[in-house]
Parts: sequence; C-alpha cells; structure tokens
Amino acid sequence: MSYKKLLVFFILFSPTSIFAYSTTTAKQGDVSFFEMSDECKKANIKIPKLGTFPVINFQKKNLLVVPIDINNATGTFIISSCGSNTDQSLIVSSRLKDTKIFVIPNNKGGDTVKNANKIKREIGNDARIFDKIFSNKKQFWLDPFMFPVKEPVITDTYGYVRSSQGVEVSHKGTDFKAEIGTPVYSMNKGVVRYIGVLPSYGKTIIIDHGHGIQTVYLHLSKIFVKNGALVEKGRLIGNSGNTGFVDGAHLHISIRVSGISIDPESFMKVLGEKK
Ligand SMILES: [Zn+2]
Repeated sequence: MSYKKLLVFFILFSPTSIFAYSTTTAKQGDVSFFEMSDECKKANIKIPKLGTFPVINFQKKNLLVVPIDINNATGTFIISSCGSNTDQSLIVSSRLKDTKIFVIPNNKGGDTVKNANKIKREIGNDARIFDKIFSNKKQFWLDPFMFPVKEPVITDTYGYVRSSQGVEVSHKGTDFKAEIGTPVYSMNKGVVRYIGVLPSYGKTIIIDHGHGIQTVYLHLSKIFVKNGALVEKGRLIGNSGNTGFVDGAHLHISIRVSGISIDPESFMKVLGEKK
C-alpha cells in the first residue's frame, strides 16, 4: 500500500469518536481543531509548513487550534504526536474564491482605477494595525462563543474576491444584516485591545480572548467600551453602522487566530454556541 493510500485508510478508519472535535479536512481560510491528550495541555504544537499554535481548553478538552491562511498551500499536514497522542493529519483543499464586481459609489470617491487602488492601500494599512495587537497567553473564556447580534443573518460570506476596476481585495470576514443602531455584543469574555476610527474599517473594536484568538467588529456607529476593559460574553459593546468603506449599513466580523484572519463560520461551527 502506498503512503498516500495508507494515510487515507487511517483517516477513514481512525477511531474518530475519541477525537469528536478533530477536523481532518479543511479549506484554505478555515480554522481546524485537533483534540489532544492531557500531556499536551497548554502546549504549543509546531506543524511543519503551517506554524506553531497553542492548545486551548474547551469543554474539558485540549484543543489545538490551527488557522489556515486563505492563501496557504494546499496538501496534507501532519500534526505530530504529543505525549501518548498518535499523529493526526490535516488535508487542506483549495477554497473557491468567487469574484464579485463591486462598483465603488460616488460618495466613496467613484468607480475609477485610481480610487480602487487608493482604497486597496487603505485596507492594507488598516489590516497592518491589527498585526500589532497583543494577545494574552491566558485564556479569558470557557463558554462557547455567541453571535455578535441577536438575530444573525449572514449577508456576505468570507473568502470571495471583490473586484473594482480590476483591483482585487479579499473579503476576510462575515457580514451580518444590521440596520444602523443595532446592538452589538462581545462574542465572548475578553479584553478590549483596540478602539479606533480607520479609513476603510470605520469605527472598530478588537477584543482579545487570549491564546491568539481575537474578534474584530467593523463599521460601527457607536462604541460603548474603553480600551483595556475586561468585558464579559454578551456585553453590549457598540451599535452597528455604516462607517468606513461600505455600500450600506451592516456588521462585519473578522476572527483572527494566531494573527490569521479565518472564516468565522468555520470557527463558530466548533467553538460557537449550539442552537
Ligand atoms: Zn465585510
């Protein structure tokens, strides 16, 4: 049996019941999870060609949280044993990145190549601010994450490419339907690490939940929390709005895991509240 066939055999017939949370396949831009034994508690696990990621505690399980960048190479990655764990594999497949044409409205400078490039630069500058934001080693939360609005209706998914005059920008978050003034809640317990008004993201809050997990709330109309505050899960932190580069009011949520902006829907599938 070839190595590849052997690998497929083990993936298909491995005792998945003991790894109920493990996600052995993922798309570019997803976050995946691997259950680890107690010896791996609080460890940092190095995965060749992906990076080094922390093991968090969730519902009395030790979960290795592995973010996959939207442009990461596809293929099979091996999560090495830790203590008595056996090796686990992660197969990363490509994400279909649909392109949507976005006509930049006149009140945002108009649909010209020059303006599209300017907006792309601004988005890049805003994103770089996020890279400098600290995440605590301590995990502030134990309960599952909740949605940031009472009635979550997704209007735009993660991962498509927005093209204006041939200038392309990836949408690295999930958009929720939200009129101006809709209450926005902290998705979990954490510390407010950033409050600001940015050219493309508008009024912005970033909450650090520890262990490299951060939730990002964009385009708000009002902010009710102060930088450095410890907030509980479900705390009213702001109102949604239409500030920054938007073509209408909505709430954009990004979730960053170890500095990588992943698909919030893949995150909530495992760490979110079950309905
Ligand atoms: Zn968005």
